[in-house]
Amino acid sequence: MTHPARAEQLKIIDNEILGLTASPLYEYRIKNKYLPVIGEGSVSASIMFVGEAPGKNEAQTGKPFFGRSGKVLDHLLNSVGIKREEVYITSIVKDRPPLNRDPLPGEIALYGPFLDRQINIIEPKIIATLGRFSMTYIMKKFGLENQLSSISELHGKTFQAKTDYGTITIMPLYHPAVAVYNSNKIGELKTDFEILKKYI
Ligand code: URA
Repeated sequence: MTHPARAEQLKIIDNEILGLTASPLYEYRIKNKYLPVIGEGSVSASIMFVGEAPGKNEAQTGKPFFGRSGKVLDHLLNSVGIKREEVYITSIVKDRPPLNRDPLPGEIALYGPFLDRQINIIEPKIIATLGRFSMTYIMKKFGLENQLSSISELHGKTFQAKTDYGTITIMPLYHPAVAVYNSNKIGELKTDFEILKKYI
């Protein structure tokens, strides 16, 4: 797909999510004047990050990883010399769950197909999942469910997965928010981010 075509396909997804009245999170979005957070970055990115769901800062700006976790993510990208604009950053659920609660299975089931389409449009070489919800969703989607384990076991490990456009790599990572509360984790995250360099 040419890159203008990718941008157009992504725009279609934007519009569908903007009008997603079927979502249990839609009313909450409107009431709070929030925006959906669909994703941001290069449409030809070779690295795609998949988080869980937007928090308050993200829902206020429409930008992924724009709050405290975003600062950690920026720091991690910086530490390995990767620019935010070179990658694509999104999440499974595109609207903020109330009070930052974990996304519910029904919400993941509703928003997951939009993420699936984003993957097929952008065709990343590696999908780096941020946190256990996106690790579980992506590993199941690519038939890796029998290799699922705890994130402390799987972070920084790479798995091969078949897609419609070829074989890609899946790498689970800790969610950057863990480093906000546990500074030891930043070292582990940095080590894992080193692995991403060869995919740029
Ligand atoms: N956590 C996520 O998973 N996504 C964001 O955009 C922010 C925090």
